[in-house]
Amino acid sequence: MSDTAGIGRELFWGVPAWAPMATYALFAIVLLTSGTGILQRVKAWRTGRAERENRFDDLAGRMTALLKYALLQARVSDRLTSGLFHAAIFSGFLVLTAATTLVAIQNDLGILILDGAFYLWFKVFANSFGLLLVAGCLGALLRRFCFPLPGHLRGVGEIGPLALLASVGASGFLVEVLRIAATRPAAASASWVSNAIVPFVQAAPFGTLVASHTYAWWFHLILAFAFLGSVPFSKMFHLASAPASIFLRSSRANGALQAVPEIEEEERPGALAVDDFSWKQMLSADACTRCGRCQDECPAYAAGMPLSPRDIVLKSAAVIHGGGYASPLPTGTLQPCEGDAFARDILTPGAIWSCTTCGACVRACPVSIEHLDMIVDVRRGFVSEGKIPESARVALRKTGDTGNPWGMPQSDRLDWAEGLDVPIASEVKTFEYLYWVGCAASYDPRNRKVARAIATLLKRADVDFAVLGPEETCCGETARRLGEEGLFQLGTVPTVKAAFEKYDVRKVITGCPHCFNTFLNEYPLLGVSVEVVHHASFLADLLGSGRLVPSRKLSTEVAFHDSCYLGRYNNLFDEPRRVLAAIPGLTVAEPEKRRDFSFCCGAGGGAMWMEVPGRRINHLRFEQLRATDARSIASACPYCLIMFDDAVKFHDLGETFETRDIAEYMADSVEPDYAPKK
Ligand code: SF4
Ligand code: SF4
Repeated sequence: MSDTAGIGRELFWGVPAWAPMATYALFAIVLLTSGTGILQRVKAWRTGRAERENRFDDLAGRMTALLKYALLQARVSDRLTSGLFHAAIFSGFLVLTAATTLVAIQNDLGILILDGAFYLWFKVFANSFGLLLVAGCLGALLRRFCFPLPGHLRGVGEIGPLALLASVGASGFLVEVLRIAATRPAAASASWVSNAIVPFVQAAPFGTLVASHTYAWWFHLILAFAFLGSVPFSKMFHLASAPASIFLRSSRANGALQAVPEIEEEERPGALAVDDFSWKQMLSADACTRCGRCQDECPAYAAGMPLSPRDIVLKSAAVIHGGGYASPLPTGTLQPCEGDAFARDILTPGAIWSCTTCGACVRACPVSIEHLDMIVDVRRGFVSEGKIPESARVALRKTGDTGNPWGMPQSDRLDWAEGLDVPIASEVKTFEYLYWVGCAASYDPRNRKVARAIATLLKRADVDFAVLGPEETCCGETARRLGEEGLFQLGTVPTVKAAFEKYDVRKVITGCPHCFNTFLNEYPLLGVSVEVVHHASFLADLLGSGRLVPSRKLSTEVAFHDSCYLGRYNNLFDEPRRVLAAIPGLTVAEPEKRRDFSFCCGAGGGAMWMEVPGRRINHLRFEQLRATDARSIASACPYCLIMFDDAVKFHDLGETFETRDIAEYMADSVEPDYAPKK
């Protein structure tokens, strides 16, 4: 490419003189069609309720997210094969769109761009990324047909846009091959893909090459315009809506549900009809690429329960556009739906109450769809109408009546501490840390042993702490995730706030990731802010500072389970592992699904209080942990412990398998006299 001056090419070569005008006319039709489609979408979004949070704050963070998740496809690449195919398609599409734009600028504005060395590199890039586009589309199509993942969609809605895009790329190469064969330009070698195919058609007469080129040119143009025109009506609309959904993602902490401000005045705090969703939820539903990642990570779906987070999104999108807009689901799957029938008949109570609020779907979604807020919004709607499973209703009633979902008396709150001489706030009055025991460790017999282990370690490390005892009450997490926002905001939060104020509580240690997450991420939104730390982090710090020294060798291997509210919600992955690693003789086995991609124990979101159909989630997770060959499971959450204990009993492994909290292992190693009583 040394002497490249003047190298370029004539645009609209080999087509009739009226072809440019026809191209503009067709392009105007395409713009009109896609503009109508986009307007229909926007019109539908505007029927949604106002947003309850600022979607335009932290512009720097939003731009970073856009770069990371939209341009660099950070979450798409979580899966190697589909990530590679998508990266090939996406980069090919971007580069070819840019190349076509340059051609249009040169042709329409008369600015010479495609000339000399730049033209040669332009051809090299266009050929390379064109090949990536076609290969990516074919790879994705092949994968869908030859190696389909269970539950993944393979309808016209998935195949059609991919096949059309592959045809656009392939026909573009055909046009170039025929042009090179007919004209033998000096720069042919820069079009390295097309040039490699030229020998296969080179022998054809010149006239045949020119005529074929003309047909191929029109064919390519029509395919390209058909693709462009269909974007707003197909799943390819995610080209526009996915970046918008990512930019508008919530800036809340991972673990915080969207709050309902002024709950007392809110007539309809939840979603029963589709237009109870916000415009952002509607826009995000239109961003779904149908990739199925959320469904693949969903423990409820894996356990055969009637919930697929992908279907929640796609059904919502279909109903949002039910009034005259072509359903993005295969024809006939859904009918337009009016009013409250949306939640009852389309999303269905079975799906909505199956969710454990584990957040795996939200973590997996490459386009920042917030499934969990949609599900909890519908729960709030059901609760406002009194439509709630009986077992959940009982747990909520007990929380309201007795201050805990167990329905146990407040006077029993300290039974776990018998003989431990634990400092009580009402007696000591001042203390540095409040040890927030939580309802599970206060009342559940198995978890009372964990509370004893934590208190023993705090005493051993000379931590200045106290417990509230009968003055402690539920933090309201279960009520909130069951959709009882009123009980949370007007019942539990003020009660806890009063107790904090009474003792001027500034620092809280929790033994439960659910209480931890609620205090850390949700109470501040309601004006209650304390410094809160989970016992995994607190113990790790005590070990680091030498205030706890584990000395007794335990000689055991444990499989560690990341609880959703500690790990995925709050990024506390290393702290519990540091605690276990400090114990002499103890080794940690890692299950395949761990850290960000950990699999829920099945208890969250009030699920522990509900009878569930299908295979139980805790049994599935127990099998995954058992597959490590460890004979023990360590966790740092009372709910996980209850669920795994249940699985051990179900498998009749009581004598040979143990499930323990990390604090119990630590207490065993640190405190020679440690002996849990209850
Ligand atoms: S939060 Fe968890 S259980 Fe609920 S839909 Fe998402 S993945 Fe499924
Ligand atoms: S909601 Fe997100 S993860 Fe689920 S199918 Fe749609 S794009 Fe994929």
